Amino acid sequence: MDVLVTGGLGYIGSHTVVALAEAGYSPIIVDNLCNSQAWIHARLEQLAGQAIPFYRVDCTDRLALAQVFEQHPNVQAVVHFAALKAVGESTRHPLEYYQNNLGSLLAVLQAMQQQHVGILVFSSSATVYGEPEKLPVTETTPLQAPTSPYGATKAMAERIIADAVQANPQLRAMALRYFNPVGAHPSARIGELPQGTPNNLVPYMTQATRGVVPDLKIFGHDYATPDGTPLRDYFHVVDLACAHVLAIDYLAKAREGLPLQFVNVGAGTPVSVLQVVETFRQATGQPLPYRFAPRRAGDVEAIWCDATLAKNLLGWQPEYTLADALLHAWKWEQTLGEQEIPA
Ligand code: NAD
Ligand code: UDP
Repeated sequence: MDVLVTGGLGYIGSHTVVALAEAGYSPIIVDNLCNSQAWIHARLEQLAGQAIPFYRVDCTDRLALAQVFEQHPNVQAVVHFAALKAVGESTRHPLEYYQNNLGSLLAVLQAMQQQHVGILVFSSSATVYGEPEKLPVTETTPLQAPTSPYGATKAMAERIIADAVQANPQLRAMALRYFNPVGAHPSARIGELPQGTPNNLVPYMTQATRGVVPDLKIFGHDYATPDGTPLRDYFHVVDLACAHVLAIDYLAKAREGLPLQFVNVGAGTPVSVLQVVETFRQATGQPLPYRFAPRRAGDVEAIWCDATLAKNLLGWQPEYTLADALLHAWKWEQTLGEQEIPA
């Protein structure tokens, strides 16, 4: 089955393209390179051992997107990753975020309808749960009002897809609500490529260890958690990639008229920032100095998921440990140090 992957050169998309190829699917990538590098494409072809069509197209460009679908009439599924994802930036440039994230989703849904493509897997986020009152979070945990335009695009996107699915029984869709994917491919050939100073914990840690950015600042150690630092649900990006493959397998067999399915994807284990630091030190043998800094605006104290539905519905469970993920992230970071524009 041909699977169109929007944002397929990005962090999660690139790992998913490899997982799709390994599972026997034929991925086709659409990416406008606004947050990725063209050379990743060659690496994906090497890892997958097959040619992977790539189109440098902006998903908000309906005409260009329709042309890609027309060139690949055997596309039966879409995995839609393409979005802007920096929470802080979204508060400064909200219109850009709504335009890009919702404009691309609408264009994808319209192209799918025109070409009678019936399977959609969408990248949603734990951000839709806000600061949950009860933990762990299940798919029935009430959603909270988004605290950023980025979060709002995810909540609105879920609503848009739910409406589209309800109006078109041939469309079967799943919104995977990711918790904290980290790490890199074990081969260290692909991984996360943050632009500028990383906002997220793990790429900041690996860059600090390589000396690219100053020492790690831990944002707040006065939270009501066992060691005072916030709790999150970190898991390996390759496991997340596999969840997309299983989602397509599931939707391909699902009955028509199925409502939009929401599925949490995370390890289901709360881990503090200090525990991530300690696990990184042990896994890599690197000292990773840090200091405490004030809380970061907008951070929730604790969130982790109950991933039972992912297991029961998709047969998904994580294969890698956090130590594996951190070691792989560090190996990837080292390759960036060796060669800035890799072949
Ligand atoms: P990423 O920025 O690495 O990948 C997104 C890719 O989409 C990039 O290659 C970018 O160039 C491309 N893109 C963006 N807008 C586009 C457009 N209009 N047309 C074509 N291509 C476009 O991000 P990621 O971490 O791989 O995230 C993928 C998806 O998962 C996003 O939707 C993100 O919101 C969601 N998500 C990510 C996380 C996380 O921790 N990384 C957590 C929850 C949800
Ligand atoms: N964090 C930190 N220092 C950093 C980056 C992140 O202490 O330089 C903390 C952040 O406050 C949060 C956790 O690490 O408690 C995870 O943050 P990240 O941005 O990776 O993910 P998210 O906030 O989306 O869960």
